[in-house]
Amino acid sequence: MELFLVTLIGLCFGSFLNVAILRIPKGESINFPSSHCPTCKHPLKWYHNIPLFSWLFLRGKCAFCHTSISLQYPLIELLGALIFLIIFIKTPLVNEALLLGAIFALLLALSLIDLRYKAVPDTLSLPALFLSFFVGSPLVSFQNALLFMGGFTLLRFSISSIMKKEVMGEADIIIAGIIGALLGIKLGCSSIYLSAIIALIAFVIVRKKGYELPFIPFLSLGLFITWLFDTEILSILGMIYA
Ligand SMILES: [Zn+2]
Repeated sequence: MELFLVTLIGLCFGSFLNVAILRIPKGESINFPSSHCPTCKHPLKWYHNIPLFSWLFLRGKCAFCHTSISLQYPLIELLGALIFLIIFIKTPLVNEALLLGAIFALLLALSLIDLRYKAVPDTLSLPALFLSFFVGSPLVSFQNALLFMGGFTLLRFSISSIMKKEVMGEADIIIAGIIGALLGIKLGCSSIYLSAIIALIAFVIVRKKGYELPFIPFLSLGLFITWLFDTEILSILGMIYA
C-alpha cells in the first residue's frame, strides 16, 4: 500500500516537473495560466490532467484540436514514478523516500533543462540543495555540502584560469553541494569521479564540434548510481585501498 502511494506521489511529482521544465526556463509562472494545450491554447479540464492516464485515454492527442501531445509528458511522469519507486525499495521509510524522491526528481528536471537550454534556474536547484540537508543529520550534511561547494568553486576557478574561459556553471556548484550533503566525503568523491567517466564516454560518442556537454545530467546520474549502490561502491573502495 505504501509502495503504491509513494509511486503515485512520484507520478504526480513527474506531472509537476513537466510544467516546471516547460515554463520556468521561459520565465513563466508555474500556476498561471492554468494548464492549456500548447497548440490551440484551450484550457484543459481536470480529467485531461491526470498524470499518465489522461495521455493514454486521449491516445496522445489534444481533446480539442487533436494535435499530438509530446511523448515527453507521459515519459517524465513515468520516470518520476520510477525514481520514487526505486528509492522506496532501497529506503523503506516513507518520509525519507519522499524527501529523496523530491530531490532526485528535481535533479531530473534540472538535467533536462540543462540539456535543452544550457542554463538552469536557481528556483529548482536551491530547493533541492535545501531539502538535501534533511535526509541525514542536518549539521553534517550542511558541512559536507559547504566542503563540496568550496572544492568545486576552487576547481572551477583553477580550470577556468588554465583554459582561459569559463568552465562549469554556478549551478554545478549547487549540485556539488547536494552530492556532498547526500553522500558524504568518500562516496561524494567517487560519485564525481563516476560522473566524469560517464561524461567522457558521452563526449566521445557525441563528439560534435563546438557542442558543449552540459554537466548536470552526468553529475545527477553519478549521484543517483552512487547513492543506489553505496554499499557495493564502499566495498570496492575498501578492496582498492586495503
Ligand atoms: Zn489543442
